[in-house]
Amino acid sequence: MSSALVFFSHVSTVPSKAQRELLTLASRFENPTVAIASVPGEEALKVFGSYGIATVLQAENPQASFGTHELSVLDAALQHTDADLVLLENDSFSRELGARIAVRRNAAIVTDVIDVSADLIATKDELAGGYSASVKSATGVLIATVKPNSIEDAPLDCQDSVEVKNLELAAPLVPAVSIVAADQKEASDRPALSEARIVVAGGRGVDGDFSAVEDLADALGAAIGASRAATDAGWISHDAQIGQTGVTVSPQLYISAGISGAIQQKAGMQTSKFIVAVNKDMDAPVFEIADLGIVGDLAKVLPQAAAEIRRRQA
Ligand SMILES: Cc1cc2nc3c(=O)[nH]c(=O)nc-3n(C[C@H](O)[C@H](O)[C@H](O)COP(=O)(O)OP(=O)(O)OC[C@H]3O[C@@H](n4cnc5c(N)ncnc54)[C@H](O)[C@@H]3O)c2cc1C
Repeated sequence: MSSALVFFSHVSTVPSKAQRELLTLASRFENPTVAIASVPGEEALKVFGSYGIATVLQAENPQASFGTHELSVLDAALQHTDADLVLLENDSFSRELGARIAVRRNAAIVTDVIDVSADLIATKDELAGGYSASVKSATGVLIATVKPNSIEDAPLDCQDSVEVKNLELAAPLVPAVSIVAADQKEASDRPALSEARIVVAGGRGVDGDFSAVEDLADALGAAIGASRAATDAGWISHDAQIGQTGVTVSPQLYISAGISGAIQQKAGMQTSKFIVAVNKDMDAPVFEIADLGIVGDLAKVLPQAAAEIRRRQA
């Protein structure tokens, strides 16, 4: 049976939902190991144990430049474990890291993976979710970046103790580019868009006013997304753009408001489990993929929905 290595740059007090999904997937393979480019706390180690992780390989180097240290840690961990499968998160940093390690190790990288079978066949959606592709590595190692919400989080019924080992790193790699400044963005209380279980997205139909979208998102504890028309208009930050050239989401519930449903928008959301569309044009293409379509003015529909949700929550 194949062995799996999960890599995290950093873990907060406890692993995030997306990280727990990776641990779940790893637990289906032999000798699941976590490599981490920082030092995890006791709580995080306990969580790792509950997924059957026997070994954590760690190395911290606050002086190393961003990206370089992570690459060194992953490289050393692969050397140490000889894993057949490397599981990474699906954010842009991890995808780039995966590509860099794939080049170094002559390994295969597959992004946007939704599952990996015991014989190392990765499944992913292709062509805006119209096809499901099964992909096999032609080299020895498969590196998979896994889409959040694809694997059901399921800790094992165990609380194994975890052995923590400090990794010996090779001489630091010299980056061709170094970051000279970085400004951290203000953290939002809302869930991260790519991992959220519920997303409420607004398009050109909000006409510059995202307050009804925000209010419904707050009532549901949802993340906020947008079409490119809305982000290009400057009504909301570009981070919120969902679609072919934006974030890909796959939540349990996706509420689309004032979005026509162009193919490039659908590419980022059509694998959502349940899609509700609110649009005043009954011929809008978004209704072709909606599980529930509401023909109406979002300025009237969204506040009514938010009020009803709050009434039921009370
Ligand atoms: C290479 C390329 C990449 C692209 N990548 C992306 C991408 O990643 N993501 C993306 O979203 N787009 C992308 N686009 C743009 C995409 O083609 C569409 O132009 C865009 O998605 C349209 O956004 P929209 O649906 O908000 O606006 P529109 O198409 O203008 O639709 C607005 C909708 O709102 C409805 N509406 C208006 N007022 C109301 C109201 N009061 N209540 C209810 N409904 C109302 C209208 O009936 C209409 O259906 C890309 C395009 C290209 C060429």
